[in-house]
Amino acid sequence: MKVMKFGGTSVGTPERMKHVAQLISDGEQNIVVLSAMSGTTNTLIEIADYLYKKNPEGANETINALESKYRTHVANLLSTPEMKQKTLDFIREEFNYLRSFTKGIFTMFEEKIIVGQGEILSTNMVTNYLQEQGANVCMLPALDYMRTDKNGEPDLEYIRLKLTDLLAANPGHQIYITQGFICRNAYGEVDNLQRGGSDYTASLIGAAVDASEIQIWTDIDGMHNNDPRIVDHTSPIAHLHFEEAAELGYFGAKILHPTCIQPAKYAGIPVKLLNTMDPSAPGTVISNETEAGKIKAVAAKDNITAINITSSRMLLAYGFLRKVFEIFETYKTSIDMICTSEVGVSVTIDNKAHLAAIVNELKKFGMVRIDEDMCIICVVGDLCWQNVGFESAATEALRDIPVRMISYGGSDHNISFLVSASDKNRALQSLSDHLFKD
Ligand code: ASP
Ligand code: MG
Repeated sequence: MKVMKFGGTSVGTPERMKHVAQLISDGEQNIVVLSAMSGTTNTLIEIADYLYKKNPEGANETINALESKYRTHVANLLSTPEMKQKTLDFIREEFNYLRSFTKGIFTMFEEKIIVGQGEILSTNMVTNYLQEQGANVCMLPALDYMRTDKNGEPDLEYIRLKLTDLLAANPGHQIYITQGFICRNAYGEVDNLQRGGSDYTASLIGAAVDASEIQIWTDIDGMHNNDPRIVDHTSPIAHLHFEEAAELGYFGAKILHPTCIQPAKYAGIPVKLLNTMDPSAPGTVISNETEAGKIKAVAAKDNITAINITSSRMLLAYGFLRKVFEIFETYKTSIDMICTSEVGVSVTIDNKAHLAAIVNELKKFGMVRIDEDMCIICVVGDLCWQNVGFESAATEALRDIPVRMISYGGSDHNISFLVSASDKNRALQSLSDHLFKD
């Protein structure tokens, strides 16, 4: 059994939904996770916002406009009068449910219900379309099995048990459709896995049913080895280790959030990033396999500030770093890169909200210097320390670029360089030219 997840743009129009229906009817047994049609979750959040602001007219108008869009979608998606009517009735019921929230009190609890309706709508439409096409399809309501624990973390044991039961109670179907994003919390209330959470849903289901693979379908052909908006000649990466994907996710490759693939990683299930516009393209496979010695990608993180603290008191002293880090902790500011010498330490942050206060406190410990408008450039691959040559290949590429910090050794998969934001494009291009020549 494999898991196939389609994001908002992949189900964004009736035509795209029909295309998705084709892709999932591949003769294999699939659990299909769908997002809301693109734009819908944002509109639902807008509706909730009107209700928070005690403006039921604003909410009602937005609901009406959204409903009329969905009625048109249904008319374009389905062809038999019976299935059209059945789906329109469902849409009517759903939107009446939304309207019911404009009357009573409005809290976070109601908001959670509202923002989750997009997935209920899209899954219902695709299921009905598949039924109309004669597919052997079954709906698995996410609210019946997807659950978080008291810490707000997915409760994998619960999910595994419930989903196994649900599949056993509905055996023999070719396609199982379910909602991404939505879940219940530890108290059984409707909740969600945060914006973009459908990827998380797919990964959790994959781990729960021990799927053969998890496919994440978007409209790009996998992760690229550099930023295609900036660099000429980037190409999709055929294969990434989970750790490499996590590094890239953090450093700006927006395609997959690192926490979303965690369950798949622990369960050792490969995650494939595929393109609905070009379904036969190989895409990117993320797994626990390493390609020895290979540099995979370059990524950048913008809006970085470097802070340098030098103090002769650090010389041969212990406890100095703790004092420095405690200041960042007090101001809830996370540190990205660190470099130390015997008399100083440089760190980078991407959240400047408390910069002045942090600097003020750091001055108790030494001389403080700030460099703003910086950019972290990271090179990702199998960079195990016994491998030779990758450090020189990367630094050779940056030979003409002033480098403020270099960090290696935090993981076997990343070497990071801090450069001026104004040198970012040049650095990315040069790294691509040197590292991915062939
Ligand atoms: N529909 C939700 C969102 O827009 C979840 C998702 O698309 O993954 O954030
Ligand atoms: Mg999305």
